[in-house]
Amino acid sequence: MEKIVALCKRRGFIFQNSEIYGGVNGIWDLGPLGVALANNIKKQWWESMVLLRDDVIGLDSSILSHPRVWEASGHLRSFTDPLVECKICHERFRADHKKEIEEHTKTHPSAGSGQADAWTDVKHFNLMFKTFVGPIEDDRNKTYLRPETAQGIFINFENVLSSSRVKIPFGIAQIGKGFRNEITTSNFLFRVREFEMMELEFFVKPGTDSKWFEYWKKERLNWYLNLGIKKENIKLTNLPKEDVAHYSKGTSEIWYNWPFGGAQGKPWFGELEGVANRGDYDLIQHSKLSGRELSYYDEESKKRYVPYVVEPSVGVGRAILAFLIDSYSEENPSASIRQAQDKGSGQDRVVLKLHPKLSPIKVAVFPLLSNKLPLAKMARAIYDNLKKSIKDSIAFDERGNIGKRYYSQDEIGTPFCITVDFQSLEDDTVTIRDRDTTKQERVKVKNLINYFNDKLK
Ligand code: ATP
Repeated sequence: MEKIVALCKRRGFIFQNSEIYGGVNGIWDLGPLGVALANNIKKQWWESMVLLRDDVIGLDSSILSHPRVWEASGHLRSFTDPLVECKICHERFRADHKKEIEEHTKTHPSAGSGQADAWTDVKHFNLMFKTFVGPIEDDRNKTYLRPETAQGIFINFENVLSSSRVKIPFGIAQIGKGFRNEITTSNFLFRVREFEMMELEFFVKPGTDSKWFEYWKKERLNWYLNLGIKKENIKLTNLPKEDVAHYSKGTSEIWYNWPFGGAQGKPWFGELEGVANRGDYDLIQHSKLSGRELSYYDEESKKRYVPYVVEPSVGVGRAILAFLIDSYSEENPSASIRQAQDKGSGQDRVVLKLHPKLSPIKVAVFPLLSNKLPLAKMARAIYDNLKKSIKDSIAFDERGNIGKRYYSQDEIGTPFCITVDFQSLEDDTVTIRDRDTTKQERVKVKNLINYFNDKLK
């Protein structure tokens, strides 16, 4: 994990927010490669959840809303975590994070570690960030930064119904920021205080909800598998009743095999994404508090009902972390994979074997030698042409030796590298090196666009 955190900083994926001022716990910024990776993840999600379907439409609601939204949703009352404080050093923990508490008590052995009186009673701490709308900071103007995007969908249910010709079952999808004032943050992007979420609220006829719940569980698991997450590292699990959120009729989680979180820092299967059957809880609550009837008229049965909702929900950062961990690999170039073109760097190879659709840079173009003008000119022309045609991120690199350039692209997950060499000047071909196999093939320059359109589709 430390290696991934270091790679993220070194290569510009993720930076600690406000680092020059000492940083803020649980708040991270995306660097140039991180924003590209996040955009690719969001693009894949949006494509599979909205664009390729006929039954889901998109929405982008605001971060701030009327405070009654949070009263209706139950977040004001119930979006809390149990908090305990160590009486010795006043550090605060989530009371249900037993392992962290155990570890912490070991740091105060003289005070009788583990004794009940070393800790305060459990208090319920609301995770919503408060703020004020307008210049007057009083209770009437108090509101909250949204802790989930879902409520923005429920409060627009009527607007969507009246403005688009959707018929149940249908879904509303949204990607946007959420904020949770977590008691403790940990493990890099895993538990943070500000994060982007990708959420779908899928509205169904009551009685069909169990079927759709099963459908979305499978659909979401397959999304990760199709984007390259290893089968052995991901699984579905149903949560026991006592662990589900206040609104839920049933929750399943997609668990990832994180390299942290287990006893003594061992790996641990834990939540990557939640899939919840929210029932009709939210629409009924908003109907009660707003006085508006949030229901659906079914033309077939000529009956009106409040739909049930199935919700897959995942944090973009948590997904980034899973994709980075899963694709990270270290290889020894002196072993069988070492190819002639990699000679010269003499270092171990770190590779992010990201699915090409997620790779921040899709193709890198190199002149074999930067000081040979005809090579540099031809490489530059290929780069310009590809950039225009593929409309994705293409890199140009002429620094250092060729082996180092390959390794530098491997480390950030670039699936293909093109090298223009002396043969290129004679027969208009280039080499294309595959990141995972390190094998090269020669391809005619005029065929490059077709080649990449095929490989990157
Ligand atoms: P936990 O029990 O771990 O606090 P949760 O069950 O409250 O999480 P959900 O409300 O189901 O989480 O949130 C949906 C998704 O949003 C999670 O599956 C996760 O991907 C992401 N998420 C939730 N909280 C955080 C956080 N603090 N930091 C990063 N991602 C988060």
